[in-house]
Amino acid sequence: PLTLQEKRIKDILKEAYDKYKNDQSGTNADYIPELAKVDPELFGIVVVTVGGKRYGVGDIDYTFSIQSISKVFTLAHVLQEMGSEAILDKLGAEATGMPFNSVMAVELQPGRVGNPFVNAGAMATTSLVSGKDQTEKWDRIQAYYSDFAGEPLAVITSVYKSESKTNQHNQAMAKLLASYGKMYDEPATVVDRYTKQCAIGVNTKQLAVMGATLAAGGVNPYTGKQLLSPEEIPKILSLMLTAGLYDYSGTWSYRTGLPAKSGVGGGILAVIPGKGAIAAFSPRLDQAGNSVRAQKAIAHISKELGANIFFRNFQNK
Ligand code: GLN
Repeated sequence: PLTLQEKRIKDILKEAYDKYKNDQSGTNADYIPELAKVDPELFGIVVVTVGGKRYGVGDIDYTFSIQSISKVFTLAHVLQEMGSEAILDKLGAEATGMPFNSVMAVELQPGRVGNPFVNAGAMATTSLVSGKDQTEKWDRIQAYYSDFAGEPLAVITSVYKSESKTNQHNQAMAKLLASYGKMYDEPATVVDRYTKQCAIGVNTKQLAVMGATLAAGGVNPYTGKQLLSPEEIPKILSLMLTAGLYDYSGTWSYRTGLPAKSGVGGGILAVIPGKGAIAAFSPRLDQAGNSVRAQKAIAHISKELGANIFFRNFQNK
């Protein structure tokens, strides 16, 4: 638990919310038409501790599409099924420094896909989820995400349909991956499953619980269910640190020292290992596709909590 500082968390959240609630920089994603329609003023922040204490401010019940934050949980599923060496062998773990949809991720290192958090690597990850048919593979993904949230999660159909009509770029990359032997299932069905996983709806509270489960060594703090082995968690967090915010990952890590993952739906999830998680949501994005307010809010809270993982151990709190 966050112990001493816990009583301050409420005040810190409110501070962050007030500080950035009028920041209108950035714009909603619009390459997925449905995302352009989301009210850009929405703003929610939630902290959940590994002990299951929850603090929130703002629009924390609004359901938005998880988008690229889903990549964390599909990776967790595949890690659990295949182990961490198979991830290196089949996917790779190299930060690309490239935009999330970059084709270069596939071309940079021969035989690699970049990492599981750029679209190419994420689709390759999704292609590794086991199951006897497409239905079972999808059901496993949805059930696994829901276990992380501790509640049933569902696809936002309008977002799924909207992206299905406009995802030619991802379809092309899936075929490119297949040409290099890095698609482990039929490309078209993989793109469809990947598009669906990105359209899973979460609210900021559920997202924070998903992160707290990672912070707690893979045990959901509310249901007590162990979702993956603790030794796999550092693998996921290291990727979040180096590639969680796409081509802005280095600057993010430099500023916050916190493993995090963003999505173009406006969510960002940051994990404080052994302590808890900070989730924030607001639709306006910067150039790289990361929520402006969510980044600022999490950076503020993490600083106030002394959550930077490279600094935490120096503090005698
Ligand atoms: N579904 C989105 C895509 O593939 C996810 C991108 C993101 O959140 N950065 O383009």
